[in-house]
Amino acid sequence: MKKVEHVFWLSSIIFLICHSYLIPLENFDISTNEEYKQVSAQELLDKIDLGQILYLIDCRPEREFNAGHIPGAVNVSINSLSFNKDTLVQKRMKEIQKTEERKISFVLIDEETGEAYIPYSKLRELIVQLPQKKDQEVILYCRRPSCTRSPLAAEWILSLGYEKVYRYAGGWEEWSEKKYPVKNFEGLGNPKAFKLADNVFAVEGLYHSKSPLASVNAGIIMTPESVIFIDSGMSISSAEYLLNLARKKMSGQKKFYLILTHSHSDHVFGMRVMKDRGAEVIGHSKTAEHLKDDNGEYIRFIIDMDKITMEQGKERYGHVVLFEPDRYVDDDLSLNIDGEEIHLLVTPGHTPDSICVYHPASKTLFAGDSVYSGLNPSTRFGGPDEWKQWISHLERLKSLEINKVVPGHGYICGLEAIDQNILFLKKEIDKTLEH
Ligand SMILES: [Zn+2]
Repeated sequence: MKKVEHVFWLSSIIFLICHSYLIPLENFDISTNEEYKQVSAQELLDKIDLGQILYLIDCRPEREFNAGHIPGAVNVSINSLSFNKDTLVQKRMKEIQKTEERKISFVLIDEETGEAYIPYSKLRELIVQLPQKKDQEVILYCRRPSCTRSPLAAEWILSLGYEKVYRYAGGWEEWSEKKYPVKNFEGLGNPKAFKLADNVFAVEGLYHSKSPLASVNAGIIMTPESVIFIDSGMSISSAEYLLNLARKKMSGQKKFYLILTHSHSDHVFGMRVMKDRGAEVIGHSKTAEHLKDDNGEYIRFIIDMDKITMEQGKERYGHVVLFEPDRYVDDDLSLNIDGEEIHLLVTPGHTPDSICVYHPASKTLFAGDSVYSGLNPSTRFGGPDEWKQWISHLERLKSLEINKVVPGHGYICGLEAIDQNILFLKKEIDKTLEH
């Protein structure tokens, strides 16, 4: 079996769809005389049952991972395309084998230059998931034995000097056929990440208990030294998704910040994930009032509203722990984080503690629930007086130079959404006057 596999891999040619951050092969030695070993489904299950610390990497596309994966796995999606024999890729592979007299199973060729390379960004994603000690076990899997994703990742990891690299070849297909335990993210929703500028990201579609339509958004700004999260989603898995996204983009950042746009569950329930990594949490002083001394009351309230058991609630939201912010905001405040300006604009209306985050460099406004796009703003936390206040702040936001607005709910939009929100709120005010 091993022999057959080996021959198969040697004849498999892979090209990674990753043209950014290429490292020429000369600068990075991917040769190795080691081979990765195989682990069976039963062996892997035993390791999980024993509660061993696993460095288990799922190499499938993120969507498949989110739909279900082996417990304890992290996702590093390795995209691959198989090429037929005698392509440029295989020719180059043979050349390297001949001239450099080293065993080499996978070479990635840049189509334009014909250079062999490792896509650095992908390698970096892998490296952050690996153990510090190179004698610890690393296990990889993808869909099925014929899949090329996990063998490729296994070879790279071997080339980094790791000694115990395993592939679970049966992969997700075999594992789910055997009905072995699986983990899925009920509380993740259907997140989609967008790059709004070199260092600015937004995520749409995080889980919301009300309905998929109401799904929550969040944002990430990277500075040279820091990662700034804007809101943390409604569940631990949402926050882990955000953290994972940031880690993929990180290059040496050491400090984390979390700015809460207000204290509602759908924006704060994931905060423990950032707090666990030492994040400094910034929020309105009224957010602090809501969150301090929570002792699990808020999550119990939401679980009661969902009409589910505590156990089911844990599955859905994860282990939610709320903290009051480390730093309070009562008035507009300009932060300077590693030379990057971040403006916090206090915009009460949706709630008394609403904050917007404006990033002048990219002209991005993270609006929290001060702006909705594609659905009506939620007005149930106030009356006409609060809505008037809300409109006045929306008018104020319109004077900003804005490229993109990331609303608290709905689609990433432009200034036009602010006008639509103003129109809606005015109509709501009119309705109350009619009665
Ligand atoms: Zn919300």
